[in-house]
Amino acid sequence: MYINTSSVNVSPGTGVPTNVRCPNCGQLGTFELPLSNAQDLIFGSGIRAGERRCPNIVCRALIFVIWQNNQIVRSYPPLRIDFDKTNIPPNIVTALEETITCHANESYIAAAIMVRKALEELCRNQGAQGKDLKERIRDLGRKIILPKELLDGLDDLRLLGNDAAHIESREYDKVGKEEVEVGIEFVKEVLKAAYQYSALLDRLRGLRKNP
Ligand SMILES: [Zn+2]
Repeated sequence: MYINTSSVNVSPGTGVPTNVRCPNCGQLGTFELPLSNAQDLIFGSGIRAGERRCPNIVCRALIFVIWQNNQIVRSYPPLRIDFDKTNIPPNIVTALEETITCHANESYIAAAIMVRKALEELCRNQGAQGKDLKERIRDLGRKIILPKELLDGLDDLRLLGNDAAHIESREYDKVGKEEVEVGIEFVKEVLKAAYQYSALLDRLRGLRKNP
Protein backbone atom coordinates (compact mmCIF):
# COMPACT_ATOMS: atom_id res chain seq x y z
CA MET A 1 0.00 0.00 0.00
CA TYR A 2 1.42 3.36 -1.02
CA ILE A 3 -0.01 6.62 0.21
CA ASN A 4 -0.54 8.98 -2.70
CA THR A 5 0.44 12.53 -1.76
CA SER A 6 0.57 14.02 -5.26
CA SER A 7 -2.46 16.27 -4.76
CA VAL A 8 -1.66 17.65 -1.29
CA ASN A 9 0.78 20.25 0.01
CA VAL A 10 3.79 19.24 2.11
CA SER A 11 5.09 21.26 5.05
CA PRO A 12 7.61 20.63 7.86
CA GLY A 13 6.22 19.96 11.31
CA THR A 14 7.49 19.33 14.82
CA GLY A 15 7.55 15.61 15.54
CA VAL A 16 6.47 14.06 18.83
CA PRO A 17 7.65 10.77 20.42
CA THR A 18 5.66 7.69 19.46
CA ASN A 19 5.14 4.38 21.27
CA VAL A 20 5.90 1.28 19.19
CA ARG A 21 7.37 -2.18 19.52
CA CYS A 22 10.80 -2.03 17.87
CA PRO A 23 11.00 -4.21 14.74
CA ASN A 24 14.70 -4.81 15.49
CA CYS A 25 15.02 -5.54 19.24
CA GLY A 26 11.34 -6.43 19.90
CA GLN A 27 11.05 -4.12 22.94
CA LEU A 28 8.19 -1.71 23.41
CA GLY A 29 9.55 1.84 23.62
CA THR A 30 8.90 5.53 23.24
CA PHE A 31 10.70 6.37 20.02
CA GLU A 32 12.14 9.89 19.74
CA LEU A 33 13.24 11.85 16.69
CA PRO A 34 16.84 10.94 15.74
CA LEU A 35 18.02 14.58 15.94
CA SER A 36 16.73 17.36 18.17
CA ASN A 37 16.15 19.63 15.16
CA ALA A 38 14.65 16.91 12.92
CA GLN A 39 11.16 17.52 11.62
CA ASP A 40 8.30 15.48 10.24
CA LEU A 41 6.67 16.00 6.86
CA ILE A 42 3.05 17.06 7.19
CA PHE A 43 0.74 16.33 4.26
CA GLY A 44 -2.90 17.22 3.84
CA SER A 45 -5.61 14.69 4.74
CA GLY A 46 -4.09 13.97 8.16
CA ILE A 47 -0.93 12.29 6.86
CA ARG A 48 2.40 12.76 8.66
CA ALA A 49 5.74 11.05 7.93
CA GLY A 50 9.02 11.02 9.81
CA GLU A 51 11.93 9.10 11.29
CA ARG A 52 12.10 7.80 14.85
CA ARG A 53 14.82 6.01 16.80
CA CYS A 54 14.59 3.11 19.26
CA PRO A 55 15.33 4.26 22.86
CA ASN A 56 17.02 0.92 23.73
CA ILE A 57 20.71 1.89 23.99
CA VAL A 58 21.95 -1.43 22.62
CA CYS A 59 19.60 -1.19 19.62
CA ARG A 60 19.00 2.42 18.51
CA ALA A 61 17.32 1.16 15.31
CA LEU A 62 16.06 3.84 12.96
CA ILE A 63 12.54 3.46 11.55
CA PHE A 64 10.52 5.48 9.08
CA VAL A 65 6.87 5.94 10.05
CA ILE A 66 3.73 7.21 8.30
CA TRP A 67 0.74 8.23 10.41
CA GLN A 68 -2.81 9.00 9.31
CA ASN A 69 -4.93 10.87 11.86
CA ASN A 70 -2.28 10.06 14.51
CA GLN A 71 -2.48 6.30 13.88
CA ILE A 72 0.55 4.46 12.44
CA VAL A 73 -0.45 3.17 9.00
CA ARG A 74 3.01 2.26 7.72
CA SER A 75 6.50 1.70 9.05
CA TYR A 76 9.78 0.65 7.52
CA PRO A 77 11.01 -1.84 8.61
CA PRO A 78 7.46 -3.09 9.29
CA LEU A 79 6.27 -3.54 12.88
CA ARG A 80 6.12 -7.17 14.04
CA ILE A 81 3.95 -9.23 16.38
CA ASP A 82 6.02 -9.99 19.50
CA PHE A 83 6.96 -13.56 20.36
CA ASP A 84 8.71 -14.99 23.44
CA LYS A 85 11.32 -17.53 22.24
CA THR A 86 12.25 -18.81 25.74
CA ASN A 87 12.85 -22.60 25.70
CA ILE A 88 11.33 -23.04 22.23
CA PRO A 89 13.22 -25.42 19.87
CA PRO A 90 15.04 -23.65 16.99
CA ASN A 91 13.05 -25.33 14.19
CA ILE A 92 9.78 -23.94 15.64
CA VAL A 93 11.32 -20.49 16.27
CA THR A 94 12.46 -20.37 12.62
CA ALA A 95 8.97 -21.29 11.32
CA LEU A 96 7.15 -18.82 13.57
CA GLU A 97 9.63 -16.02 12.82
CA GLU A 98 8.95 -16.51 9.12
CA THR A 99 5.19 -16.53 9.79
CA ILE A 100 5.50 -13.19 11.59
CA THR A 101 7.66 -11.76 8.78
CA CYS A 102 5.00 -12.73 6.21
CA HIS A 103 2.29 -11.12 8.41
CA ALA A 104 4.32 -7.92 8.89
CA ASN A 105 4.65 -7.65 5.11
CA GLU A 106 0.90 -8.26 4.60
CA SER A 107 1.51 -11.58 2.83
CA TYR A 108 -1.37 -13.26 4.61
CA ILE A 109 -1.71 -16.42 2.50
CA ALA A 110 2.04 -17.11 2.89
CA ALA A 111 1.67 -16.38 6.63
CA ALA A 112 -1.26 -18.84 6.87
CA ILE A 113 0.82 -21.58 5.27
CA MET A 114 3.67 -20.79 7.68
CA VAL A 115 1.28 -21.00 10.69
CA ARG A 116 0.61 -24.58 9.58
CA LYS A 117 4.34 -25.21 9.16
CA ALA A 118 5.04 -23.94 12.71
CA LEU A 119 2.30 -26.22 14.10
CA GLU A 120 3.58 -29.21 12.08
CA GLU A 121 7.08 -28.66 13.52
CA LEU A 122 5.59 -28.45 17.02
CA CYS A 123 3.60 -31.68 16.56
CA ARG A 124 6.70 -33.46 15.24
CA ASN A 125 8.81 -32.31 18.20
CA GLN A 126 6.13 -33.50 20.62
CA GLY A 127 5.47 -36.79 18.79
CA ALA A 128 1.78 -35.96 18.19
CA GLN A 129 0.01 -38.43 15.87
CA GLY A 130 -2.99 -38.14 13.53
CA LYS A 131 -4.06 -38.29 9.89
CA ASP A 132 -4.14 -34.51 9.45
CA LEU A 133 -2.94 -31.43 11.27
CA LYS A 134 -6.16 -30.93 13.25
CA GLU A 135 -5.95 -34.52 14.54
CA ARG A 136 -2.30 -34.10 15.44
CA ILE A 137 -3.12 -30.94 17.40
CA ARG A 138 -5.92 -32.78 19.23
CA ASP A 139 -3.38 -35.50 20.06
CA LEU A 140 -1.06 -32.77 21.30
CA GLY A 141 -3.87 -31.73 23.64
CA ARG A 142 -3.54 -35.15 25.30
CA LYS A 143 0.21 -34.67 25.84
CA ILE A 144 0.25 -31.11 27.12
CA ILE A 145 -2.30 -29.04 29.02
CA LEU A 146 -4.39 -27.03 26.56
CA PRO A 147 -7.74 -25.43 27.43
CA LYS A 148 -10.64 -27.37 25.86
CA GLU A 149 -12.12 -24.13 24.49
CA LEU A 150 -8.89 -23.50 22.58
CA LEU A 151 -9.03 -26.93 20.95
CA ASP A 152 -12.74 -26.57 20.15
CA GLY A 153 -12.05 -23.21 18.49
CA LEU A 154 -9.69 -24.84 15.99
CA ASP A 155 -12.59 -25.91 13.79
CA ASP A 156 -13.26 -22.25 13.05
CA LEU A 157 -9.74 -21.64 11.76
CA ARG A 158 -9.87 -22.01 7.97
CA LEU A 159 -6.11 -21.94 7.72
CA LEU A 160 -6.02 -25.28 9.55
CA GLY A 161 -8.38 -26.81 6.94
CA ASN A 162 -8.35 -30.56 6.50
CA ASP A 163 -5.59 -31.33 4.06
CA ALA A 164 -2.09 -30.18 4.84
CA ALA A 165 -0.92 -31.02 1.32
CA HIS A 166 -3.62 -28.98 -0.38
CA ILE A 167 -1.74 -25.73 -0.82
CA GLU A 168 -3.77 -25.23 -4.00
CA SER A 169 -6.96 -25.22 -1.93
CA ARG A 170 -9.14 -22.19 -2.65
CA GLU A 171 -9.75 -21.90 1.11
CA TYR A 172 -6.40 -20.13 1.43
CA ASP A 173 -7.62 -17.32 -0.82
CA LYS A 174 -10.16 -16.37 1.86
CA VAL A 175 -7.59 -16.14 4.68
CA GLY A 176 -6.95 -12.56 5.76
CA LYS A 177 -5.15 -10.51 8.39
CA GLU A 178 -7.53 -11.29 11.25
CA GLU A 179 -7.41 -15.05 10.79
CA VAL A 180 -3.62 -15.06 10.49
CA GLU A 181 -3.36 -13.03 13.72
CA VAL A 182 -5.66 -15.46 15.52
CA GLY A 183 -3.58 -18.35 14.11
CA ILE A 184 -0.32 -16.79 15.39
CA GLU A 185 -1.86 -16.17 18.84
CA PHE A 186 -3.02 -19.80 18.90
CA VAL A 187 0.51 -21.05 18.09
CA LYS A 188 1.92 -18.85 20.86
CA GLU A 189 -0.55 -20.29 23.40
CA VAL A 190 0.29 -23.87 22.42
CA LEU A 191 4.03 -23.09 22.62
CA LYS A 192 3.55 -21.67 26.11
CA ALA A 193 1.83 -24.87 27.21
CA ALA A 194 4.40 -27.12 25.52
CA TYR A 195 7.66 -25.40 26.49
CA GLN A 196 7.23 -22.45 28.81
CA TYR A 197 4.88 -23.56 31.62
CA SER A 198 7.21 -26.49 32.35
CA ALA A 199 10.24 -24.17 32.62
CA LEU A 200 8.32 -21.94 35.04
CA LEU A 201 7.24 -25.00 37.06
CA ASP A 202 10.87 -26.18 37.28
CA ARG A 203 11.87 -22.76 38.64
CA LEU A 204 9.03 -22.86 41.18
CA ARG A 205 10.08 -26.35 42.30
CA GLY A 206 13.69 -25.11 42.54
CA LEU A 207 12.55 -22.46 45.02
CA ARG A 208 10.87 -25.11 47.17
CA LYS A 209 14.11 -27.16 47.31
CA ASN A 210 16.19 -24.13 48.29
CA PRO A 211 14.37 -22.44 51.17
ZN1 LIG B 1 15.13 -1.53 19.28
